[in-house]
Amino acid sequence: MSKTRVIDWNQLSRRVLDNNPVSRDEAMAILSSEEDELLAVLDASFQIRKKYWGRGIRIHVLENAKSGMCRENCSFCSQAIGSYSGVDRYKFLSVGELVEGARNAYEKKAVKYCIVTATRGPSESEMGVVCEAVQKIKNEIPIEICTSLGLLTGDQADRLAAAGVDRFNHNLETSERFYSEICQTHTYQDRVDTIQAAKKAGMEACCGGIMGMGETHNDRVELAFALRELEIESIPVNFLDPREGTPLADCSLMEPAECLRCLAMFRFVNPTREIRVAGGREVCLKHLQPLALYPANSLFSEGYLTTTGQGNPEDMAMIQEAGFYTEEMI
Ligand code: SF4
Repeated sequence: MSKTRVIDWNQLSRRVLDNNPVSRDEAMAILSSEEDELLAVLDASFQIRKKYWGRGIRIHVLENAKSGMCRENCSFCSQAIGSYSGVDRYKFLSVGELVEGARNAYEKKAVKYCIVTATRGPSESEMGVVCEAVQKIKNEIPIEICTSLGLLTGDQADRLAAAGVDRFNHNLETSERFYSEICQTHTYQDRVDTIQAAKKAGMEACCGGIMGMGETHNDRVELAFALRELEIESIPVNFLDPREGTPLADCSLMEPAECLRCLAMFRFVNPTREIRVAGGREVCLKHLQPLALYPANSLFSEGYLTTTGQGNPEDMAMIQEAGFYTEEMI
């Protein structure tokens, strides 16, 4: 489909709602749509989102359970051991701290509490702490648990699922083609294997990527299609907030409209899935942040792993003023 061809965006969304998936060419056309088409593209993506998610927003709260000193070399990451970003470094939080974090997340109206560690994969002692904490949280607090602990073996995935973990996060980050530009210490296939192990163990998969690392539109589309093929339930779409001391420190912030087109494209390609406007929301979308709620039905509140967001009260006000509502636990 050429860029000059006029696309009826509403017709495209109706086609998706009739279970006819968009093609790669159509996904590319969304990313290269004109400024004047932005509201039409967003409205069309909203028609899809509305069918599956209404006007609900699912709030997720992250817990950085082990920060810094990661031996992997993901070039966007301020927690990689080679970065000079001055990020906090601390060892694994205790069971009590994780339970308290879950309670705090529940009070912020979160449906998911996400326990994240900076690591290639969980050690035996870390597995013990996470499993014990998850069992306690599940007994005491009505909140779902996601964990993001790096690469998993099949046995580790089974143990997490048995402890009560609902969902496991491991992002592909970008397309298979571009992947080796951003990480060399583990492969794209390692990431796919971990996601498949999590799903096989019975957990839902959370898997997305980061936009703005120097990838092409085609890479973004390939990522969206890879997630569709893996049948990922939850897709976090991050926008690079370049961190000083990392190899990507000199990348430019993405423009707000470009971020919105990305979110719309992920919605069109993965119509029924939870699409999350994730890291970089405030710094990249700026005044257009509320428009992200039209394609996306989920967000992180209370900041990210190493940076703060605008805060939970601001997030709640934005959701309410834009006419959306926070979903309760389901
Ligand atoms: S594995 Fe995770 S924590 Fe480690 S460098 Fe990569 S993104 Fe950062």
